[in-house]
Amino acid sequence: MSPRPNSLAARDAAFHLHGYTNAQKNEQEGGFVITRGKGIYVYDENGKEYLDGMAALWCSGLGFGEEPRLTQAAVKQMQELPFYHTFTQKVASVTVELAEKLVNLAPVPMSKAYFCNSGSEANDTVVKMIWYINNGLGRPQKKKIISRTKAYHGVTVAAASLTGLPGLHIDFDLPIAGILRTDCPHHYRFGNPGESEEDFATRCAESLEKLILREGPDTIAAMFAEPVMGAGGVIIPPKTYFAKIQAVLKKYDILLVADEVICGFGRTGNFWGSQTMGVTPDIMTMAKQLSAGVLPIAAVLVNQRVYEALRDNSAKNTVFGHGITYSGHPVCAAVALETLKIYEERKIVDRVRALEPVFLRELQRFREHPLVGECRGVGLVGAIELVKDKATRQSFDASLAVGPNLVRIAHNHGLIIRAVGDSLAFCPPMVISEAEVVDMFVRFEKSLADVAEWLKRDGHL
Ligand code: PMP
Repeated sequence: MSPRPNSLAARDAAFHLHGYTNAQKNEQEGGFVITRGKGIYVYDENGKEYLDGMAALWCSGLGFGEEPRLTQAAVKQMQELPFYHTFTQKVASVTVELAEKLVNLAPVPMSKAYFCNSGSEANDTVVKMIWYINNGLGRPQKKKIISRTKAYHGVTVAAASLTGLPGLHIDFDLPIAGILRTDCPHHYRFGNPGESEEDFATRCAESLEKLILREGPDTIAAMFAEPVMGAGGVIIPPKTYFAKIQAVLKKYDILLVADEVICGFGRTGNFWGSQTMGVTPDIMTMAKQLSAGVLPIAAVLVNQRVYEALRDNSAKNTVFGHGITYSGHPVCAAVALETLKIYEERKIVDRVRALEPVFLRELQRFREHPLVGECRGVGLVGAIELVKDKATRQSFDASLAVGPNLVRIAHNHGLIIRAVGDSLAFCPPMVISEAEVVDMFVRFEKSLADVAEWLKRDGHL
């Protein structure tokens, strides 16, 4: 359906190039324009209401437009000092406060915070830090970085290379050299028939060790991992997975980088996903809910050992030659600090924990549905994976685009969710109520019924 002439949707088609969008489709149909938000709902230009079951892009933890305190924090900072930078030892006072706060909040002893504007930039920064310190430590051959199939670490050159999704590599001449891929810890998809989660985790760790030995431990610097894999399909590893993986990394002096961009700030029922999944990182990256998605800000935390290596090399090279104009932007830092205060005051972690049983109960309601292969979730993040054949776990033909079609149909039922292939992801604002969680899955149920009808009608089942 082509957009109404002169509507925002039509103007979007005329003037705006989107990320992660089929440009041809956008030209034909126009953009899906959101004009305002309230609570966990957003509204399109025709005034239609949608329950945002994805907190926008896994980030609007406090919902939309109901935090006058964040506005006030931004305004106050804009009046006092709208901008300053972090080069040549300079820094805005509020940026110092945020650095201290984040280091104190870390799940394991961390030493310093470095600020960026996006999760991608934070992960690219970490790759450069790792190369930099290993050159400084006199082991320039120890540079390769391991990440996992279906990992998501962003879209900039190094981060996209770490991302383990083919769509981010095809025709971009990526990944760059020196990125190694290890197994995705998704038991439902990659476990052998009859294999327990525990045995699967052991197999993942053994496979990691084989990779390290094949490449040479002296050539591998670090491994990146999301505690719960988000954009790859909300993949929750087996309970013992990280303990087993970390034992291998430790043995070969390989750093572990926890990408907390989705998991951080309460999402999984602890302040950090690392706590939920038993991860002891050397470096952490975070973004999104750090400012409740309200302003762009990301951070890297490094432990003392990493910091000292970086410090010593920067002394040798005069400076650490990596800086971003808007690193630690004071207005973003002020909003992040206020966000963290709100999380504390509202006991956001307790809130997620209290809602988790309701969220999981509603998610698991679909377990018996003939088109549902797996329902998985933790805290307030989850996914429902659709399959053509429940018994064999056979997926639908990708050309049917069952997941993306369900997402489109869900719009008719006033629901925004996200498809990762045929897995439908749920990651609502953490301020969602119990009744709204139930309502979100009622809307999903209606959407799924429409999809089942379409598949049956067209003979795809
Ligand atoms: N890491 C993870 C785990 C993410 O989910 C994302 C974004 N979805 C990123 C990194 C990249 O963040 P950004 O889009 O802010 O660059």
